[in-house]
Amino acid sequence: MKANIVLLPGDGIGPEVVAAAQSVLEAVEKKYGHIFEMSEYLIGGAAIDATGQALPAETLAACQQADAVLLGAVGGPKWDDPAAAVRPEQGLLGLRKNLGLFANLRPVVPQADLLSASPLRPDLLDGVDLLVVRELTGGIYFGEPRGRREVNGQWEAFDTMLYSENEVRRVVRLAFELARGRRKKVTSVDKANVLDSSRLWRQVAAQVASEYPDVEFEVLLVDAATMHLITRPASFDVMVTTNMFGDILTDEASVLTGSMGNLPSASLGEDTNRLGKPRGLYEPIHGSAPDIAGEGIANPIGTIVSAAMLLRHSLGMEPEARAVENAVDTAIRAGHRTIDLARSGEKSLNTAMITDAIVKLV
Ligand code: NAD
Repeated sequence: MKANIVLLPGDGIGPEVVAAAQSVLEAVEKKYGHIFEMSEYLIGGAAIDATGQALPAETLAACQQADAVLLGAVGGPKWDDPAAAVRPEQGLLGLRKNLGLFANLRPVVPQADLLSASPLRPDLLDGVDLLVVRELTGGIYFGEPRGRREVNGQWEAFDTMLYSENEVRRVVRLAFELARGRRKKVTSVDKANVLDSSRLWRQVAAQVASEYPDVEFEVLLVDAATMHLITRPASFDVMVTTNMFGDILTDEASVLTGSMGNLPSASLGEDTNRLGKPRGLYEPIHGSAPDIAGEGIANPIGTIVSAAMLLRHSLGMEPEARAVENAVDTAIRAGHRTIDLARSGEKSLNTAMITDAIVKLV
């Protein structure tokens, strides 16, 4: 099969981890006889330096025509001036908005050999395999009106949490579809005891649930969900929630594994590629790690497993995706560790060494 993949290395360790994932995709190409046309474009700080814009028109056009997009990370101290008119994050937000990526998927599966890296007791982590689906383009981060106004000599500021039925339905439906390929359970998280937008969310989620009688449905208030995520993480399969609650819950879920450098994410929309699959954006959950950029020691696993998600969701290549995930698991079981995963006294590999080990196992 032929596929067109846009690579957006970005800033900091982004180029190092994207190059590692590219090597793994090349190994998949060879082993399975595919042709991946991979081309690199600028985004974030690197794009600001070269063009003055965080998302150059050429980058956006390439992403709109690609079958899938793989991104490293954007940002860093060089572009941190809060007064700057153009900021690296605008590149990422612009891409999500322009590609209509309304759902962010973050799988969390702690690796048995890395349980000691988690702040949770190993017995609580037994069987944890969850997927958080966060609504990404609506809710309080985008709702209008928003702003500041002076009332009786005092400033006040306000945001609007707004959801339409359609926005809720499409993301909850995606959660149910994904649950069908997993352990068939969906937990919808809201704040329906206080918020009108959450009451609509819960009502629409229940309607969608009735279309999927084969999938177990649970609802939780977000405050309870934060506790249950720590006290019974193994009970969750797919968790679906609003933009802001998802922002918070995905960070909480990511620390369950204790190894942020290993975690992938996918952002999907309604737009489909030439293969009839979602034209997704795939990226590790970590940032640009400016403290270690250029040293060649970054952990590339989060980006490599993001590439596995790309193979699964945008190219429909499930066996290839599994092969990459299994190669990563086998490398970790064999004791290969980057600096962020190694315990004190344990030997660590640099980015090139662990990538080679994974490439050989694909
Ligand atoms: P960060 O994730 O970049 O780094 C946090 C810590 O984890 C650092 O000590 C870093 O060295 C380490 N780390 C992160 N990824 C690693 C990896 N793959 N291998 C080894 N160690 C790793 O978060 P931060 O320091 O808060 O942010 C740094 C910059 O990244 C900021 O400019 C921020 O805006 C940006 N950022 C970008 C994204 C994105 O592009 N999606 C996400 C978060 C932060």
